[in-house]
Amino acid sequence: MYKMSKAPLLTAVQIQERIEALAAQIAPCDFDVILSVLTGGFMFTTDLCRHIATPKLQVAFIKASSYGNSTESSGELKISGLEHLNIRGKKVLVIDDILDSGNTMKELVHKLADFGAKELKTCVLLNKPARRAVDFNVDFVGFDIENKFVVGYGLDYANDYRTLPEIWTLEEA
Ligand code: 5GP
Ligand code: MG
Repeated sequence: MYKMSKAPLLTAVQIQERIEALAAQIAPCDFDVILSVLTGGFMFTTDLCRHIATPKLQVAFIKASSYGNSTESSGELKISGLEHLNIRGKKVLVIDDILDSGNTMKELVHKLADFGAKELKTCVLLNKPARRAVDFNVDFVGFDIENKFVVGYGLDYANDYRTLPEIWTLEEA
């Protein structure tokens, strides 16, 4: 059994302020497409997009899953939604919730290499540097956090907690 930490690791205000700063960094890069990784990345993508106000920015979604109903990755990554993806010749920013071992992003970027994007950059809200298991350099990071399992703001445990506007640590009860 797990329970939420008593106080959030990151408050809604902290998250929104950081996203505004990130958007100011990202907007001048003139990306053509934001490619959002579901499900965890949905809230971050939405809030970030609101601050990159340009008519010419497209948004696409793919789904990556490896966790099932646990706090440890099953190690087996499933990616869906690539069938209809058209990013040929485009400048693409891939957005995910969190960079943990780095496996998801590394494999995703490897798969996307076949799609002929002109430029491919990556952005995550959270980064756990201590957990990195593969060599992967992400281009934009919201927050570096310590090695704890977190939920809220899109991130789940067994599909719960995603709609909370803060990031919480999940602890054994
Ligand atoms: P990686 O492939 O980098 O090990 O893990 C990436 C994916 O695992 C993330 O997109 C996220 O779905 C999930 N993940 C990694 N760490 C956490 C965490 O602390 N909390 C939650 N809820 N999901 C996590
Ligand atoms: Mg994910």
